[in-house]
Amino acid sequence: MAVPFLDIASQYKSVQADLEKALLEVARSGKYILGERGAALEKKLAEYVDVPYAVGCASGTDALILSLRALGVGPGDEVITTAYSFFSTASCIALVGATPVFVDIDPRTYNIDPRGVEKKLSIRTKAVIPVHLYGQPAEMEPLLALSKEWGVKIIEDACQSLGADYKGRRVGSLGDVGCVSFYPTKNLSGMGDGGMIFTRSPAIAERLRSLREHGAKTRYVHTMVGYNSRLDELQAAVVLVKARLLEEWTEKRRANAKFYSELFMGSAVGAPYDLPYVRHVYNQYVIRVADRDTLMEHLRSKGIGCAVYYPVPLHLQECFKTLGYIKGSMPVSEKASGETLALPIYPELSGEQMGEVARELVSFYR
Ligand SMILES: *Cc1c(COP(=O)(O)O)cnc(C)c1O
Repeated sequence: MAVPFLDIASQYKSVQADLEKALLEVARSGKYILGERGAALEKKLAEYVDVPYAVGCASGTDALILSLRALGVGPGDEVITTAYSFFSTASCIALVGATPVFVDIDPRTYNIDPRGVEKKLSIRTKAVIPVHLYGQPAEMEPLLALSKEWGVKIIEDACQSLGADYKGRRVGSLGDVGCVSFYPTKNLSGMGDGGMIFTRSPAIAERLRSLREHGAKTRYVHTMVGYNSRLDELQAAVVLVKARLLEEWTEKRRANAKFYSELFMGSAVGAPYDLPYVRHVYNQYVIRVADRDTLMEHLRSKGIGCAVYYPVPLHLQECFKTLGYIKGSMPVSEKASGETLALPIYPELSGEQMGEVARELVSFYR
């Protein structure tokens, strides 16, 4: 039995009737940008994340860019972030003209090491972008303390972790702003690109709304040089339909993760480590193994999808060469990039499929 790494079509089938009805309604409404569905989704997800304001935009990457701009980050500023994440966690910093400053990760959670952040603080540090990687919240308490003490802003990259909790608080509500993505592989997704930004500050929310519409508050009157970055009504309609199922899907992901982790206990497979005070939402289920590439080949030869997140840490990307990092600068991230492997974890996986993945892993190590 083949087990694909992702199966987006099977999720579509599970909500097909409602989705197709919603899509047709938008098509017939003639209102495609900044309409009632976008506003309804902002309201719904603001409640879910437990913040007063949510601002939709065109992608998770744009959510990060708009957030940096809304917080006044620009040329001459430094922004501290993790060396181990999806590319746009760092590209957003460079795209607003600021300098990314990388910090290594905690080997247990793959999330940014707060002690490393403290060491990299400088007079030019404007913000820190922690990523809640794979669906597990980053260690936020020390970062929030640093923010309070030094006045640096916190932008949560929650693109993989909508619905995760840190010490009883939902991610996206802890920093100055929180960013999510509706890219099709995320836990809550559209049928294309989309994103959203959460904040408790009315002033930041207002700047974000202006920045997503060319920096205008009143049409054709531009107080800032902004972007064209809106969440369109088709995407908002799709995400609204799926949002009803997010909790159910999240619990399925968590149950799938539990099944794998119990199986791997005491074996050569390093299961993910959950901090005791978080709700991990498992956008990815990532194992750590010494012989990663051989295992990956074995699983693929048996028709089992798996993937590497991420094979090259951010500080070693060619586009950041001029920042001066070299191999060895971030040893924990570099080691993780050679040893981690993501297994299928999506909520639509059947028990049979999970069993198949488990059997192939066990047989590889036997
Ligand atoms: C997906 C993702 C993004 C970017 O989101 P897009 O909607 O694809 O632009 C940013 N950061 C992380 C950690 C992500 O996983």
